[in-house]
Amino acid sequence: MYKLPRVLKSLAESFERLPGIGPKTAARLSFYLLSVPESFLVDFANSLTDLKKKVLRCQICFGVDEEDPCYICSDEKRNQNLICVVENPLDIIAIEKTGKFLGVYHVLGGVLNPLHHIGPDDLKISELLVRVEKRSKSGEEVEILLATNPTMEGEATALYIKKEIKNRIFDDSKLKLSRIGSGLPVGADLGYADEVTLSKALSGRGDF
Ligand SMILES: [Zn+2]
Repeated sequence: MYKLPRVLKSLAESFERLPGIGPKTAARLSFYLLSVPESFLVDFANSLTDLKKKVLRCQICFGVDEEDPCYICSDEKRNQNLICVVENPLDIIAIEKTGKFLGVYHVLGGVLNPLHHIGPDDLKISELLVRVEKRSKSGEEVEILLATNPTMEGEATALYIKKEIKNRIFDDSKLKLSRIGSGLPVGADLGYADEVTLSKALSGRGDF
């Protein structure tokens, strides 16, 4: 029986642990890397080792950057009273690409999903509530744009957050809750939506 060198086997096993990669692709990728220049491999390896060391999670919005707070939270030109709530950091990248959003973000780190035992405590919801409360005490207009995906779980999460905010903020005269607009197909993933669709969804946001 053909025996794979140990290094190749272990590399293939690592690839196989990535989402969407089966054993065949894992083996193909590992063999492919044998054929690339050494410099590519060094860069690749450096990116992997730096990943956890140099990518930080912003302690305000929980997005990712090399700085904490991230460049978006520390940008004074951004409206800190307009908070767009998203599921994942990838959603931020998608919305930023449209160039249409001038507020800040809050990354939940997922959505409520009872089937997978993901409850409110597993997401950055309490952190969001604290943020909203602090902002709304400033006396200025505050808008929370709920931009979870238009899936069943995304809708349920947006509704849950709305209820929690209403429970917590007694004076909501200056607080506006909005939901990312229609145009996004049901079940869509914001992180993968094209710029035109996303721009329309942002400008077409409605009260929630
Ligand atoms: Zn941030």
